[in-house]
Amino acid sequence: MVSKIQEQSKDSQSRPPIVVILGHVDHGKTSILDYIRQSKIAEKESGGITQHIGAYQVEHQKKLITFIDTPGHEAFSTMRSRGAKVADLAILVVAADEGVKPQTKEAINHILRLELPLIVAINKMDKPGALADKVKKELADNNVLVESLGGKIPSVFTSAKTGLGINDLLEMILLIAEMESFKADYLKPASGIIIESRIDSQRGPTATLLVLSGTLKTKDIVAAESVCGVIKKMENFLGQIIEFAQPSTPALVTGFGQVPPVGEKWQVLPSLEEAKIKTEIKSEQEKRKREPAEILNVGPEQKVFNILLKSDVSGSLEAIREMLKAIPQEEVIIRIIKAEIGDITENDVKLAESAHAKIYGFRIKCPNSLKELGERRGTKISSFDVIYELIQTIRQNASFLLKPKINQQKIGRIKVLETFKAKGQQQIIGGRVMSGKAEKNSLADVFRNEECLGSGKIVQLQQNKSAVAQVAKDRECGILFEGEIQVEKGDILETYKEEKEKREL
Ligand code: GDP
Repeated sequence: MVSKIQEQSKDSQSRPPIVVILGHVDHGKTSILDYIRQSKIAEKESGGITQHIGAYQVEHQKKLITFIDTPGHEAFSTMRSRGAKVADLAILVVAADEGVKPQTKEAINHILRLELPLIVAINKMDKPGALADKVKKELADNNVLVESLGGKIPSVFTSAKTGLGINDLLEMILLIAEMESFKADYLKPASGIIIESRIDSQRGPTATLLVLSGTLKTKDIVAAESVCGVIKKMENFLGQIIEFAQPSTPALVTGFGQVPPVGEKWQVLPSLEEAKIKTEIKSEQEKRKREPAEILNVGPEQKVFNILLKSDVSGSLEAIREMLKAIPQEEVIIRIIKAEIGDITENDVKLAESAHAKIYGFRIKCPNSLKELGERRGTKISSFDVIYELIQTIRQNASFLLKPKINQQKIGRIKVLETFKAKGQQQIIGGRVMSGKAEKNSLADVFRNEECLGSGKIVQLQQNKSAVAQVAKDRECGILFEGEIQVEKGDILETYKEEKEKREL
């Protein structure tokens, strides 16, 4: 199917639209992609999908659509931050029972900033709690005005469970593609972007190259920004061997010397020498860029939270790095001591132990024996399948290093009528409560002629010679005061309590 269509469009300048699906976690991005994949790729072919390669193509009304199947808008923005144009069109998925959430807003910001054509999919319409009108209103409050409310943005009601609206969604994508008329030159040397990469235990470094322009062929010499290679073997998303890949086609390739980082742009060059020179310059620049980050400048007030990251594919690592960068780090620096593709190993535990680091895994395996080893050595290992949860956990754990916020709560003012010497830093004071109340264990600032001389604590409190917890306004009291300051008759004690409040990064 795919190759037939590629054949048909060989000489044409138009190319399939490249679509990215964005939205809040759990709103149904993966389910919609899965539904489309399952319903649009014939059974015998889908049997061929054995691996996740970061993108796939479906056919609808005899036209191809390319879907990017990345972990979400984090990865997407990583690619964008490298200046590469990845998608032509965005689908914003919003669950009808939950409405606009923080990641929906982030996605909207990305889409609007990039001026990407947008289709809203109001998903989970099969659920009893679905409130489509509310979702549309919330979207309008966030600068996304859908057509039914007088705006320009098409919206479709979908259910990834029942399949409701999925065909409408595909039709809408094709309609927009026709209007925008996405084009590419099929004849020039290919170029594009790396959308997925990993080390395969059998094949070595593999990468998914999305072709944005030209036609990529086996034996082509490809230079990404930091790695180069000669394409040894190419597969389409069904795992079928292909000899060439035209614009908008994702191709899984082998032949790179190392794993090329996700988001890097790549291009076909005439010779390996040229490719090497190009990548060497780039990797030197990268090295220089990275060095200052490794020699960490830690201010006297700053704390460092060390982490070791392991992940299934480099795209996720990049996305995690980018999301961690977005966490404010003025007080606590989140330092990645190592970030690597692959399962957690004993060496990781040892390294983490010596660096007092915590280990975080994303979509990787961690045998229980290693978890136990980590526990014995005081190294916490946590693994996640949802990127958002991983980031939240790192954020929370790093927040423990933040100094708590101290909230002062005023209690009252006491006028000192008499003072008596007691031992050490303690004094016995007779006083009258002028406002508020007096309270045992409260802290007290000592004022003389409106100047604060220092502070201390009310250790004991008496009224009419018996110990009490509180004394009311206008009453006299006896106080055992502890503090470096010598309190005198006529001084004012301003008393307060301090409460520590946990802070979050
Ligand atoms: P993602 O995080 O946005 O990729 O969300 P997922 O696709 O993983 O979906 C999160 C949960 O919502 C899963 O349990 C899905 O089965 C469920 N879900 C997704 N779409 C629908 C839908 O249209 N209807 C219902 N009832 N459940 C859905």
